Amino acid sequence: MSFDIFNLSSELTKALEKNNYKTPTLIQTKVIPLVKTKQDIMAQAKTGSGKTASFVIPILEALKENKTQKKAKIKVLVLAPTRELTLQIAQTFSNLSEYFPKQLSVVSVIGGEKIGEQLLKIQKGCDIVVATSGRLLDIIGKKQIDLSTIEYFVLDEADKMLDLGFVQELDEILKIIPKQRQNLLFSATYSQKVIDIASKITTKAIKIEVEDTSTHVQEITQRAIFVKKEDRSELLRYLIKQHNFKSVLVFMANKRAADNIANKFLKKGYEAESFHRDLTQEERILTLDDFKNKKIDILFSTDIASRGLHIDDIDCVINFDLPRSTEDYIHRIGRTARAGKTGTAISFLDNENLNHFKLIEKRYKLDIPKEQIDGFDFTLIEQKKQKGPQPVKGKRKSKKDKLREQGLR
Ligand code: ADP
Ligand code: MG
Repeated sequence: MSFDIFNLSSELTKALEKNNYKTPTLIQTKVIPLVKTKQDIMAQAKTGSGKTASFVIPILEALKENKTQKKAKIKVLVLAPTRELTLQIAQTFSNLSEYFPKQLSVVSVIGGEKIGEQLLKIQKGCDIVVATSGRLLDIIGKKQIDLSTIEYFVLDEADKMLDLGFVQELDEILKIIPKQRQNLLFSATYSQKVIDIASKITTKAIKIEVEDTSTHVQEITQRAIFVKKEDRSELLRYLIKQHNFKSVLVFMANKRAADNIANKFLKKGYEAESFHRDLTQEERILTLDDFKNKKIDILFSTDIASRGLHIDDIDCVINFDLPRSTEDYIHRIGRTARAGKTGTAISFLDNENLNHFKLIEKRYKLDIPKEQIDGFDFTLIEQKKQKGPQPVKGKRKSKKDKLREQGLR
């Protein structure tokens, strides 16, 4: 099957070819025709399934027809959870409209960068705004943006809108944009939170679901290795050398751990960097670019990189520390084996986190062999069968923690 089935314009077809989009993904075959019917859509499909193009393609096709005004008016507003995702979406709009006779103006509205340039572009007139909610509200507050002409409102990666403040920000944005609009919502997973967010935006969305995580996960070789906490760095070096991994994404429990270990690896001569929310926007972009371009071999990251980002060609994802929420496991390992390639995901286990790992396995119906590697001594303490992970001594688990463990948050 090719993109021909959608009867797209020659300009768009040419851009799809240039970007190597030959066959539409499943979500694209479902969403693209439906967007054209002007209905609201709530679409769920796993990470990496091509959700972005599923709304970018039909929106661009519609905008191409519509070339009346001299000064462009904002017709499309896309909200995305992070600055990186915002930039990626804006880039997709630009890439796929490259051959349009009249260039569309796409503006990214994101924090961490100077506001002046973004304001200037908006004032000059633009067709498409891709934004994170915080910065958009800053600009709305300055009365520098006219959102009264919005025709399409897109919320991408709804399940990653993790900030508690997001729902409030969304409320404010919804007050300003026209009630008459087409709403397109996308999410990798459904949770109560996503449903709550969606219900604020539209009550008449058509729901589209595409078979979950399992298909992609099949291309990932999942391993679990017992190792003492203090031996993890050494095991990581051993694995990189043994398998000749060239591009490794290592998930750490927190920013400090990511910084510390990246420094240690740098000193040992690896091209290593850390990636987390404390970096400036510029640093984040640079680091990701370097990782994509293979200037960095090992990226030590917090869960900020576990969702949404597409860096193709990652050989291996390492869970140096297990994710707190079971759901993040799938998001993390989904960073490898993208676009039909294969990949490896390795989790480091010990006596403390084994039960938590079993929860992850249970949730995703996995049964991953638990390995021990020669030279890395490890004594497994037989554990009593129990339902949940061992509570930390002297500390009662909060309700929030319990929910998180069940993957409900
Ligand atoms: P999602 O938002 O569902 O996680 P993305 O929209 O970010 O996925 O797409 C993942 C990757 O797949 C991107 O690199 C994108 O360019 C690529 N892609 C999307 N659709 C196609 C297609 N039909 N053919 C080839 N590559 C595609
Ligand atoms: Mg996406």
